[in-house]
Amino acid sequence: MAILDKFSGLAARYEQLKASGGDPFSIQFDDIISSVEGVVKGKRTLLFGTNNYLGLTFDPISMERSIDAIRKHGTGTTGSRIANGSYREHEKLERELADFYGHEHCMVFSTGYQANLAMISTLVGKDDHLIIDADSHASIYDASRLGHAPVVRFRHNNPEDLAKRLARLKDQPGEKLIVVEGIYSMLGDTAPLKEFVDVKREFGAYLMVDEAHSMGVLGQRGRGLAEREGVEEDVDFVVGTFSKSLASVGGFCVSSVEGFDILRLAARPYMFTASLPPAIIASTLSALETLRNEPQRRAKLRANSRRFYNGLKDAGFTVGPEANPIVAVILNDPAVATMFWKRLVDEGMYLNLALPPATPNSSAFLRSSVSAAHTEEHIDFAIALMTRVGREFGILPEAPEYSNV
Ligand code: PMP
Repeated sequence: MAILDKFSGLAARYEQLKASGGDPFSIQFDDIISSVEGVVKGKRTLLFGTNNYLGLTFDPISMERSIDAIRKHGTGTTGSRIANGSYREHEKLERELADFYGHEHCMVFSTGYQANLAMISTLVGKDDHLIIDADSHASIYDASRLGHAPVVRFRHNNPEDLAKRLARLKDQPGEKLIVVEGIYSMLGDTAPLKEFVDVKREFGAYLMVDEAHSMGVLGQRGRGLAEREGVEEDVDFVVGTFSKSLASVGGFCVSSVEGFDILRLAARPYMFTASLPPAIIASTLSALETLRNEPQRRAKLRANSRRFYNGLKDAGFTVGPEANPIVAVILNDPAVATMFWKRLVDEGMYLNLALPPATPNSSAFLRSSVSAAHTEEHIDFAIALMTRVGREFGILPEAPEYSNV
């Protein structure tokens, strides 16, 4: 037991969390009925805590293609691509993604987490510099520890701070790689990409954008924040995941930087892990086709996001800074947030409880994500429920006499 003693503080905090109103880490779905509905403890529950932005997890064509791929090519590849070889479909998926982004090259990875680990830890070495946003996703932080480049953090979404830090490195040899995200996964805010691009140009750095939460969501064609902001030419590496809009699992990086493919022989999180199984590739290809051909899903997602965000804001909640599909309701007190979260789950709404240290500024909040598959009724139900519980908890003022919410 001694080997685990170092976790006694964490274990104590977890016990405290459970005592304060529930165990958010032990949620189990008895059943998943659709992209936006499941069953928790026998109760039909609306899912507002997925990243299922386009609502494609139950897409009938993707499911059929996946099943067909298993029949034709089996359940797994049982090894890495450098050891066991690639299936034709790995390359097809890479070509389709490169084509979608209008880039020359693409590598796919077994998870989005590994895409960041592989790319960031390999692109910059001990003689280079890695410059990351302070609110970066854990995979970006972990990549910075796996690699050998010195790491500089700049203030979240702050181009002036980025410029200041790059100026300090101006006379240092080596390449500089800046890493930012399209939509930030916790509060749903977007990066000021145009300003970052100006800074990148001024200092001759490379720019990587993790579009995990913005692919399929932002931009006319759904390519993400860089597309929406019209700065795609200045983004040297786009990283993304299949686990959100594309409703499966896996990750990718696209780029037109010359010589990109040498990374297949250098990036360890690509080389030393089993490659994506056929069923996953098939459903991912199918979802990518849908993402490209059905822009109406994106339009619906945007309308749903606005409805939910504005509804909560109008009710009086403190919400995140932008009406994106990730909507955070900030509650600050972890005990209140936990009780609030539990109450919503008990009443048939599932969303994510976000607690320090995983949150920006050590805040506690409820993180929800909207899907194109939500109906207006789903969204209105969620707003009404959260408003009712918010009033009961004293977070919102009492309802006026005439209110029927
Ligand atoms: N990047 C960001 C910004 C993320 O939010 C996540 C996952 N939430 C990842 C990368 C990792 O993706 P995956 O879960 O597909 O491994």
